[in-house]
Amino acid sequence: MEIREFQHLIKDIYYEKDAKRGTDGTFRWLCEEVGELAKALRTKDRENLREEFADVLAWTFSLANLLDVDIEDAIKKYKNGCPKCGHIPCECKE
Ligand SMILES: [Zn+2]
Repeated sequence: MEIREFQHLIKDIYYEKDAKRGTDGTFRWLCEEVGELAKALRTKDRENLREEFADVLAWTFSLANLLDVDIEDAIKKYKNGCPKCGHIPCECKE
């Protein structure tokens, strides 16, 4: 599935609920899902990790839909490598 296609799918499934909840409430849910991903990292359960990554992405796309941000367009900032140093792989000092 293409990124834009996934964003449209999430919009079809959740936009009505997301719009009622609003950006602040949706952002809070995204933060909770990131917390669940943190827990999944500790369990090292591959299936649980996959599920939590999917949830974090779904909530990220929900928030982007509310703010009318096209993620496929937004991620173009990385197409030529690291946006800071311009290299692939990144050569920035950590
Ligand atoms: Zn870099």
